[in-house]
Amino acid sequence: MYKSKAFSAAGPTAPLASDTIPRRDPVGRDVQMEILFCGICHSDLHQVRDEWKHAMPTIYPCVPGHEIVGRVTKVGPGVTKHKPGDLVAVGCLVDSDHDCPQCKADLEQFCPNLTLTYNFPDKHKTAPVTYGGYSDSIVVDERFVLRVPANLNLAGVAPLLCAGITTYSPLRHWGVGKGKKVGVVGLGGLGHMGVKFARAFGAHVVVFTTSPGKKEDALRLGAHEVVLSRNADEMAKHANSFDFILDAISAQHDINAYINLLARDGNLTMVGAPEKPLSVAVFGLIFGRRSFSGSPIGGIAETQEMLDFCGKHNITADVEVIPIQKVNEAYERLLKSDVKYRFCIDMASLKAK
Ligand code: NAP
Ligand code: ZN
Repeated sequence: MYKSKAFSAAGPTAPLASDTIPRRDPVGRDVQMEILFCGICHSDLHQVRDEWKHAMPTIYPCVPGHEIVGRVTKVGPGVTKHKPGDLVAVGCLVDSDHDCPQCKADLEQFCPNLTLTYNFPDKHKTAPVTYGGYSDSIVVDERFVLRVPANLNLAGVAPLLCAGITTYSPLRHWGVGKGKKVGVVGLGGLGHMGVKFARAFGAHVVVFTTSPGKKEDALRLGAHEVVLSRNADEMAKHANSFDFILDAISAQHDINAYINLLARDGNLTMVGAPEKPLSVAVFGLIFGRRSFSGSPIGGIAETQEMLDFCGKHNITADVEVIPIQKVNEAYERLLKSDVKYRFCIDMASLKAK
């Protein structure tokens, strides 16, 4: 066991502050890495503030962070995939049982015995729960450590590990591509990656935003059209027309306004995870045989496929790099939708006093 520097929250209303946490020494198939960058996901904020207490209550101290890139510093004797010096990445998953039908289908995100990167019981008993990437180092089983394409900017790669795979996976699952009209709702961290992927897959992409100031950016990121969602006339023009809509909103909103924009057999998938339940008017689903579903992150093989796709097509997240000392300020800005389009922590700042 060794000590790692980190930022943690002591309770739901406490700011994140400097802390020291235990990490296990790398044994067996473990990879130890120095963390260079970690993205800030809105899930970190939900979890730190215990907004998901009904589904995943937070255990404190909580060290969030599941968009991790870094360099391998040491490996256990059983490691074959990575070696010291390699650029690697870790997302939302650090373990699963490798044995269930879900794992065998490369869908570890549905494994009943999965371990999430933070706030999950620590199988290794190094600490009561797993601690995430707001830290200078982490130790992870090599099966959950991804290869990073060498041509990409590292700060822009970090958000791919959650925002990237969480949008890539449902767009692939629902067959988004040429000839499809696709909506992306909420231009934050997830939404802006959804736009980049939907465009790269060849779809006609429409962004829905509440922020008029993001219109130009939406077009630059790849949207063909932008709709200000608070303008009922603009919304009405798109009624019954979408094959697929990806909803990446972090807060309460009227989901029925988007269901009504789906064409026959269209699907709306939620990746946004607001604190409180959303109310669905079933008539919107019945007429048009539309469907409403959800999607969590993605499996490890698909995450590697997504990273390789990004390497090939030169896709990264648009990031605002911050020192870790600004993390609380970044959380407040997330709540105001003031993010362009992902905050990413430069972990070198953790070394500063
Ligand atoms: P984010 O960067 O804060 O973006 C959220 C965006 O939603 C905002 O930028 C804003 O976009 C829009 N929005 C915020 N409040 C709104 C409101 N009251 N009404 C309408 N629109 C609003 O968040 P993120 O990191 O992308 O995460 C988005 C959600 O996905 C979070 O709930 C997060 O926990 C969840 N998530 C789920 C998964 C999964 O596996 N399913 C994975 C990661 C994250 P505009 O300014 O364009 O309106
Ligand atoms: Zn996330």
